[in-house]
Amino acid sequence: MNSRHTAIEFLRSKSSVSVLIIGGGINGAGVFRDLALQGIDVLLVDKADFSSGTSAATSHMAHGGLRYLENGDFSLVREAIRERNLLIENAPHYVHPLPTTIPIFKWYSGLLNAPLKFLGLINKTVERGAFLIKIGLSLYDSFTRSTETVPRHSFMSKSESLSQFPLLNPNVICTATYYDASILAPERVCIELICDALEMGNHAQAANYVSAFGTSGEAVTLRDELTGETYTVKPKLVVNASGPWMDQVNRSLKQDTALVSGSKGSHIVIDNQQIRTAIGDHEFFFENDDGRIVLICPIADKILVGTSELVCDDPNHVCCTPEEIDYFIAMIMKMFPQANVSKDQIVFSFSGVRPLVFSKSSDRGNVSRDHRVFLLTPGNGIDYPIYTLAGGKWTTFRSLAEKVTDQTLHALGRIRQYSTSNLSIGGGKDYPKNIEEEKLFLDNIVLEMGLDPQRIKELFDRYGTRAASVASFIFKEIEDNDSCLDNHVGYSRGEIVFLTRCEYVFRLEDLILRRTLLAMLGDISVGLIVELSYVVGDELGWSENTRKQEIDNVISVLAHKHGVKLS
Ligand SMILES: Cc1cc2nc3c(=O)[nH]c(=O)nc-3n(C[C@H](O)[C@H](O)[C@H](O)COP(=O)(O)OP(=O)(O)OC[C@H]3O[C@@H](n4cnc5c(N)ncnc54)[C@H](O)[C@@H]3O)c2cc1C
Repeated sequence: MNSRHTAIEFLRSKSSVSVLIIGGGINGAGVFRDLALQGIDVLLVDKADFSSGTSAATSHMAHGGLRYLENGDFSLVREAIRERNLLIENAPHYVHPLPTTIPIFKWYSGLLNAPLKFLGLINKTVERGAFLIKIGLSLYDSFTRSTETVPRHSFMSKSESLSQFPLLNPNVICTATYYDASILAPERVCIELICDALEMGNHAQAANYVSAFGTSGEAVTLRDELTGETYTVKPKLVVNASGPWMDQVNRSLKQDTALVSGSKGSHIVIDNQQIRTAIGDHEFFFENDDGRIVLICPIADKILVGTSELVCDDPNHVCCTPEEIDYFIAMIMKMFPQANVSKDQIVFSFSGVRPLVFSKSSDRGNVSRDHRVFLLTPGNGIDYPIYTLAGGKWTTFRSLAEKVTDQTLHALGRIRQYSTSNLSIGGGKDYPKNIEEEKLFLDNIVLEMGLDPQRIKELFDRYGTRAASVASFIFKEIEDNDSCLDNHVGYSRGEIVFLTRCEYVFRLEDLILRRTLLAMLGDISVGLIVELSYVVGDELGWSENTRKQEIDNVISVLAHKHGVKLS
């Protein structure tokens, strides 16, 4: 398989490429896969790890954006719902239909304000009542009428609601439940897209920890952030997919742009079994006292709570502040007043900056989430065009990538060969359609590799059909019997070696924060970090000094960026 080493060799030996993509978040990865599929020679670089920017900070939802209906963003909602449905089909190992419940406290409120807001006559929302929510949900369902990917919305009376959700605020007058989708591991979808592209051939190359930092006019200067080595590459065109860093990247390419308005949002992950049991498999999606739409959502055996919306123009050092934590705890108490919630139940927190299309409004919540592609034509000190991607949602990455790829193909004088609409992602390929097919798939691997059936099932639950590659790797490459980690019986040494060798792990934090959910779900300890540092370090040839530095780094990142204090 291709790897970072191959990409670095490519950079050392070759000086030109058709398309250089700067930024390996979900949008850069989506464009990379689409261009690779069309046979275009393409290089993807990210200054840090893939999916370590905004794409690591989402609410884990593939959604149409119910609330954008009020802003009149109908085409965005229609597109996002279509993409949500495609994701459920193409990445069934990570994206699942999610019953989403709205607790309602008023019958008629918002009926007047919503149309005025839609007409742009006011900018303020008031609490949405049952009738307004009914109108919104009917419209939302109408966008997905032709497919039956998710069920339609329904309402429950006060007594039905309180019987299903006994901890719910008793002032509720009814609840409405509609469907969106949850994405268990957005960062894994991103790396699997990149791996899929690499499997399409050597014309696609990708390297994390390589930053774009300058231009000579015809070439872009890149730096290996792990070694300091620099390279120049002459692209026919550049795709700037650097999210909230897009203006900084353009400036480094001598283009002074002001395309982005940053909007910071945070989440916390809480270990509270009382609420986790109370919400079942439902997300609670509701309006907080300040009018913001917020969520309390199941994620594995924990709950995810978010999100805030604050003006932020520096995406480099964001983290969840004590004020945001107070805000989240208060909103949980508003919805589940009888629950025992406290800050010491927080196992993880994370923040990111939405790269919204530039707006003068300081109310980031009302800035459209629609995406745009800005074309900077050659001239002004550069010989190549730059396509800069702004706005958008994680959910719509595929359609955005399709648009950018079409524009890119046009500029290169090529035509689209294949569509990505029905292209499965990573372990979503040949995914079993029912329990019988799943059993057959698992039995075949057990038979072929002689591994423990329970272990194979664990791998399947974690990686979908990619479990076959993980199992085959362990079978062929791990000479001694593969053993469970001492500090986490759910993972084996061979699996960690697979992730390191095949999924671009170069820092300990890549593994702990993005290839696995270990940190996010609060499953991390100093003992586990040390154990993983030996497995990853042996694979990457770390010196004892590097290994210790990696341990210190990951402990510091966990403490300062994710509020995880390890003793
Ligand atoms: C709090 C929050 C919640 C959200 N929830 C959802 C949700 O539930 N569903 C949804 O659909 N959307 C959601 N979004 C929106 C979604 O996360 C973003 O639209 C999407 O992740 C943007 O991806 P991106 O690839 O454009 O940017 P990023 O993921 O930020 O990727 C940009 C990459 O560029 C790299 N880079 C920067 N500078 C350079 C350089 N000089 N050289 C090389 N690389 C560079 C960075 O390291 C980074 O990895 C949410 C956003 C936030 C902040």
